[in-house]
Amino acid sequence: MNADALPDPDIATRLARVLDAIATAAERHGRAPGEVGLVAVSKRHPASAIRAAHAAGQRRFGENYLQEALAKQDELADLDIEWHFIGAIQSNKTADIAQRFDWVHTVDREKVARRLNDQRPDDRPPLNVLVEVNISGEASKHGITPDQLPALIETIAGLPRLRLRGLMSLPAPVDDFAAQRRAFAALAKLAAAGPVPLDTLSMGTSDDFEAAIAEGATLVRIGTAVFGPRPD
Ligand SMILES: *Cc1c(COP(=O)(O)O)cnc(C)c1O
Repeated sequence: MNADALPDPDIATRLARVLDAIATAAERHGRAPGEVGLVAVSKRHPASAIRAAHAAGQRRFGENYLQEALAKQDELADLDIEWHFIGAIQSNKTADIAQRFDWVHTVDREKVARRLNDQRPDDRPPLNVLVEVNISGEASKHGITPDQLPALIETIAGLPRLRLRGLMSLPAPVDDFAAQRRAFAALAKLAAAGPVPLDTLSMGTSDDFEAAIAEGATLVRIGTAVFGPRPD
């Protein structure tokens, strides 16, 4: 059934469908449903949408645009939310990320890693960090190249205010399921290759999360399927 043809459901209904689809995909590909967590990507949606998803049980939210995210965090300060920064990082904007987020998915250079480490407040636990990898070559301008990855991993592993958890990727969109799987398999292989143990693979969006789960995703980042189309 085409979800777009249905009347616009509320966020709780969409969220329940997405969680069900994640569990179904996990089961189909031999994963335990509890191994795959949902980061609900709320960029461009108002704080009220996050509040609705939170009321329906969602706790992890992903934001891309720093100023927009900070305003929503202020508005939602009464809620227990795990905030994930998943947008491009400008190196002069790292302080707010270090202070206000629980996870960062998009570290792709040493300078940013060192600044986040230096700026993480001492009264907070180490910042959970994922390294963004470019597995699509020229089709993507974000992420470190696979050949430069081991050196960045070694650097981050030595920074005490960061906790290196794993890798993240946003591959160029493709329709074919087998091609989607190949890109995610490449990221999983890089994670397994070391040089340090990693427990998190952040991969898969509304359009390709089944392929990501098939290849070992532990966090999927889903926006549209949870909140509906983004207002421009
Ligand atoms: C927007 C975004 C997503 C979510 O994409 P949808 O297609 O809305 O599910 C996931 N990851 C990143 C990095 C994004 O910027």
